[in-house]
Amino acid sequence: MEKIAEKLIRYAKIDTMSDEHSSTYPSTAKQLNLAKVLKAELDKMHIESYIDEYGLVYAKLDGDDSKEKIGLIAHMDTSPSLQGGNFEPRIINNYDGKDIILNDTYTLSVNDFPSLKSKKGKTLIVTDGEHLLGGDDKAGISIIMSVLEYFVSHPEIKHHPIRVCFTPDEEIGAGADHFSTEKMDADFAYTIDGGSEEEISYENFNASAAHVEIEGVGIHPGDAKGKMVNAALLAIEFNNLLPSLQIPSLTEGYEGFIHLDHIDGDVEKAVLDYIIRDHDYSKLKEKERQLELAAETIQKRYPHGKVSLTIKEQYLNMKQCFDKDFSPIEKLVKAHENVNVPYKFIAIRGGTDGARISYMGLPCPNVGTGDYACHGRYEHVVVEEMEDMCKVLINLLSL
Ligand SMILES: [Zn+2]
Repeated sequence: MEKIAEKLIRYAKIDTMSDEHSSTYPSTAKQLNLAKVLKAELDKMHIESYIDEYGLVYAKLDGDDSKEKIGLIAHMDTSPSLQGGNFEPRIINNYDGKDIILNDTYTLSVNDFPSLKSKKGKTLIVTDGEHLLGGDDKAGISIIMSVLEYFVSHPEIKHHPIRVCFTPDEEIGAGADHFSTEKMDADFAYTIDGGSEEEISYENFNASAAHVEIEGVGIHPGDAKGKMVNAALLAIEFNNLLPSLQIPSLTEGYEGFIHLDHIDGDVEKAVLDYIIRDHDYSKLKEKERQLELAAETIQKRYPHGKVSLTIKEQYLNMKQCFDKDFSPIEKLVKAHENVNVPYKFIAIRGGTDGARISYMGLPCPNVGTGDYACHGRYEHVVVEEMEDMCKVLINLLSL
């Protein structure tokens, strides 16, 4: 069997950066290069698979038909935040726990990334300082491919029927756009995507977006008394009516926020865009109400101006999907315990494809991969944690 570190490095060298400004699907054709590599490897293992018309790779490995069909999902694209692919990732054996010089300009420092302290003695894969590693989520892909390889090379080990899907465009929020629960054909699934090996997530934010448009009344400033309504000033006033402590820079854990994402304006017209987030759905609705109240208040104060507010729900907390049946989480916890890999529950402060897929009817919690500091040049993967996650999944899937 190919070592998991070699697998990751091989996948990391393939440029699969997605593009949020593209209007095609997948957003970049180069993501299909990895899809084809994966398909060829699955063929070699005699695992049934295909790339569908949207570039998603589906695969299935038969197991005991009387048992639940378990899905594994990872994404093929890497973040547009920094170029990935076409570089040589570096392996650091027996890491000494000290700063890692990536190149003449950049150093991966223990001060900035204190979790490095606990990785002493481990095997790390790091970047050349100029690229992102793409362990998010090629570590997830490497784990899934290694698990499949294990079962194929150990036919004597009985296991659940396994279903796999590799998706494009997760990093631009479109990974689940063309995901099909029918094609996946699983009873429940796990997204293997990023973070420490300990992390199990089945909670994420509920999310809305608000768009505010303010129309003012423009007039020569010299003659403006009693007539001008300055839309830009109304925009500032609008924002000042919102709870000032509920912003991203002052919140953490289960604290939600209202985030001013964009503001633009002059006398005639101003626009504000917000994102609203809370793990608790009723608290999300309260925050939306704050924006409605602010709009009503400004409208009342300035009857000659015009304030319009539209709020759109974006995604929901997948926790509700596990209220009826918590067993996918229980099975995962049991597998962690069986192979002695620690675990902790993390409430995601964002959304995931797993959340969207959960709402399509396929419960899909998120598990870690051993990938750290993703989306930039300091990204690094701990090889032993990828190996641990293989053990966890093999235990979970075995009968
Ligand atoms: Zn990811």
